[in-house]
Amino acid sequence: MELTKERIQEMKDIMEKEYGKEYTWKEATEAAYNMQNLAHVLYDFMIEDMKRQKRLEENPKGFHLDGEGYTCAICGQSCSKENTWYDKYGVKCMACQKGVDRKQVPASIAKNRDNWYSSYDLQSCFNVRSSTIRKWVREGVLKPRTITNDDKKPHIQVFLIKDNKDTLPPKKLVESKTIKETKNGQDWFRVEPWYKFVDPFEYLKSYKIMKYMKYSDPPTGQKYDYKFEYTHQSKKSKQ
Ligand SMILES: [Zn+2]
Repeated sequence: MELTKERIQEMKDIMEKEYGKEYTWKEATEAAYNMQNLAHVLYDFMIEDMKRQKRLEENPKGFHLDGEGYTCAICGQSCSKENTWYDKYGVKCMACQKGVDRKQVPASIAKNRDNWYSSYDLQSCFNVRSSTIRKWVREGVLKPRTITNDDKKPHIQVFLIKDNKDTLPPKKLVESKTIKETKNGQDWFRVEPWYKFVDPFEYLKSYKIMKYMKYSDPPTGQKYDYKFEYTHQSKKSKQ
């Protein structure tokens, strides 16, 4: 849809007021069209969601979604049509839904990501490889929940915090942070892991996972730029 000059002027005024600098007509036009596209996407999304809620009232146990390319809220894999299941906890693939039905994992993990770690979460939060996580599982350091396929082979493993209470910290402690930098008048954003901002061993000292981690000293002048990694040895004492 074509935007009127008044709409673009409105956008220009809002941007200038918000960011305290002048914008060109071209920049304001671009921003206004981007905003319009976003509004369309949100509108479509809302309509889709309303339709689903209505269907859910008629089928409280859930149903397959029409269409393709949904993302499973548990394993993160893409799923379509008969391989989807939608209920009050969100969209899941059928393998994960069957895992819920078999009580291998609680249904609520599809809705609440704060109570559990995926293998990928552990890899990124603790800078370890998937092979390290498998080793931790073999050695009993981590207690997994395994969702199996119909042929009883593992589909995915997840790590509930309540099963690993003394070992894994609440996820909000290990969230990465977005840092803003201003260079030549432009704002840049980058994401840094939590362990760049604190002494990880002090910060997470009450969690057993730290017994299996090590760090090398930060380069001179940089207080917290540790190389944070998995160790085969026991925790080093800090000098
Ligand atoms: Zn899944």
